Amino acid sequence: MIPVQPRSPEVYLNLNVRGMGPSATLAINERSRQLQDEGKAVCRLGLGQSPFPVPEHVRESLARNAHQKDYLAVKGLPALRSAIVDWVRRTEGLDYAPANVLVGPGTKELMFLVQLVYYGDLVIPTPSWVSYAPQASIIGRPIKWLRTRPTTGLGVEPDALEELCAQDPDRPRLLILNSPSNPTGLAYTAEQLQGVAEVLRKYRVLALSDEIYSGTHFDDAHVSLARYYPEGTIISNGLSKWCGAGGWRLGFFVFPSTLAWLADAMAAVASETFTSTSAPLQHAAVSAFEDRPEMREYLDHSRRILAELAGHAYRTLSAAGAVLSPASGGFYLFPRFEAHRARLEARGIADGDTLCARMLDEIGVATLPGSSFGRPPSELSLRLAYVDFDGDTALEHARDEVIDEAFVRRYCPRVTDGIERMAEWAAG
Ligand code: GLU
Repeated sequence: MIPVQPRSPEVYLNLNVRGMGPSATLAINERSRQLQDEGKAVCRLGLGQSPFPVPEHVRESLARNAHQKDYLAVKGLPALRSAIVDWVRRTEGLDYAPANVLVGPGTKELMFLVQLVYYGDLVIPTPSWVSYAPQASIIGRPIKWLRTRPTTGLGVEPDALEELCAQDPDRPRLLILNSPSNPTGLAYTAEQLQGVAEVLRKYRVLALSDEIYSGTHFDDAHVSLARYYPEGTIISNGLSKWCGAGGWRLGFFVFPSTLAWLADAMAAVASETFTSTSAPLQHAAVSAFEDRPEMREYLDHSRRILAELAGHAYRTLSAAGAVLSPASGGFYLFPRFEAHRARLEARGIADGDTLCARMLDEIGVATLPGSSFGRPPSELSLRLAYVDFDGDTALEHARDEVIDEAFVRRYCPRVTDGIERMAEWAAG
């Protein structure tokens, strides 16, 4: 008799999920925590989490709303949707209907839903945030990576988009444009967005404008792609980054009336999956969108601290021969160490994954390789998130001290030391 071979449980997994590991951002966070628990000093430049506390008035609002226990409307609490629409009008000068706002448990979940509901190829520049492409793979959507150029900050270029769309003009596509960008820190100018918008309109491409870092724009000069392509753009934003509340998990999409059908379809799927977003959080979030002096002060100080850190990191890494663009917002930089290739290869480091693994082992600095963002694995690139500091203390001192290099050395020493160690280590 032929013995029946037991099957590995793996064969019962959805083929799109088979072989998939945890998201790179969450994996590096776990690994850093584990090393710290083992007593090792780790400079945590891996996960991009805001270092700043949730503003006090928003925390107080959450405490006042702890009793809110009812399931809320699928699209979100009406008062929150109105507050979001008012905020978009105030910050972008664009008008939307509260009925076309969809609140979700983080924009990551809403991004997954839009890819599920909309039938189109995912179009993203290389490099792009770690989860856009895996979400498309889980759903089974083709992924088209747009070529980019270092001279324009590795962002979406109209000619690259035109070249892709012209190959099959009627094919449905979803472009995700992230500004300020994770992982490069690039904030697109109005002119750049206009150029991209023209191509999007010509080929009727659906655009998702990921603006989660909008409030961190160093010059408070964020511009939405929706200003230039309002009829085809969904705005995506939330509390995770500029409001310091990543772990709260609250994000939203705002749709133009031309895309109300898509908002309704996503809400239908939301009603069959997450039902509605946490009630206390939605009630609390209303206060984050109000025009208050304490919020303006919080944002202003946060931006100036981040800008100074970005400047220090840019100068230190450039001086050591790394190639990178200066950041205009967010908390990331994306240096390439190709100029160090010969010396790194002599030390057995010939690709981005090894670069990051060895940097973590040898000098305790955690970052993520460029391959997690869609760059060729052989490229000696990485993303660093300059967030490993006590944001409470830094904000406290930002009130009455000058924010300069000495300030960030004093209040963000793990970041400034970590960057300096990285520069020395790569060049050495
Ligand atoms: N957006 C953050 C990052 O890129 C982390 C959040 C996440 O990946 O869910 O590091």
